[in-house]
Amino acid sequence: MINGKMIIQTHQLTKQYGQALALDHVDLSVPKGSIYGLVGNNGAGKTTFLKIILGQVYPSSGSFSLWDAQYKDAWQKNRRRCGAIIEAPGFYPDMTAAQNLEYYRMQRGIPGREKVSEKLEQVGLADAAKKKFRQMSLGMKQRLGLALALLGEPELLLLDEPINGLDPAGIIEIRSLLQKLNREKNITILISSHILSELENMATDYGFLSRGKVIQQISAKRLHELCGTYLEIRVTEPERYTALLEKELHLTGYKVLPDGTIRILGQPEEVTSYSRLAVEQGIGLLALERRELHLEDYYMHLTQEAEL
Ligand code: ATP
Repeated sequence: MINGKMIIQTHQLTKQYGQALALDHVDLSVPKGSIYGLVGNNGAGKTTFLKIILGQVYPSSGSFSLWDAQYKDAWQKNRRRCGAIIEAPGFYPDMTAAQNLEYYRMQRGIPGREKVSEKLEQVGLADAAKKKFRQMSLGMKQRLGLALALLGEPELLLLDEPINGLDPAGIIEIRSLLQKLNREKNITILISSHILSELENMATDYGFLSRGKVIQQISAKRLHELCGTYLEIRVTEPERYTALLEKELHLTGYKVLPDGTIRILGQPEEVTSYSRLAVEQGIGLLALERRELHLEDYYMHLTQEAEL
């Protein structure tokens, strides 16, 4: 479980749209100061989750808190502390970047005309202020959306697939921009994606959703420990061997696959300590291999297990 102060905390949050169960008893916690990656396939419930937090959709059951305020209580007051890009913002194609922002600034009653140039500058669009929206690249449009979300000086940004469709250079730009906002302005960011690797090197925490259910919530640090290198060991007596792993090597971070293969995750000790253990105890060592687990494979296994 993630420690520290939580900005969002949901408890058994559930949303049913007619027959479709979009969220199914979801417990997620978004820590203050995090870049929280909400990862799931299409239809997993990511957008629904973000909309509930923003009050655009009401939960069927369950509850959540936004900072110190509970849903149905004073939570609405804290919605003002949020900025969001949920669906593509309705920008006017023939208006410039600055005109579009100014339009929304007035519509939302946000004081300070200088906010427009300030936010364009913040997202790296200062030079494009006079460019018409329809002449902008997808990456620029995404950044303009971000400028709009930042207009009200939010402490929490909720971004629904902001990286979707961007080319690799665009992904890097948005990633470094979000990291800068997180670091320098102390903005907590909840960002959804259906591609885990898009969030790699950026997210500090992850929540994995599949068909409306949380399949795992994990810190990036822990995830990276689990990925990377692991050992696969096959022995003649897996049960006795795993008992010895726990007793002699005080190891708990292992998994036994259905065929009896033992997988040791994390940062395994010297390989020799595992072979020695088997030999000393008279257990036959059939195989011992060091392997790499990539982030995307980890996620795929997790999803497959959840969908079985
Ligand atoms: P995507 O990336 O495709 O937007 P998602 O993870 O954001 O997926 P949601 O959009 O939250 O998922 O949808 C979750 C489920 O709820 C899907 O089965 C979807 O069809 C259904 N759903 C979402 N909105 C509605 C709605 N307004 N009416 C009926 N069903 C809906």
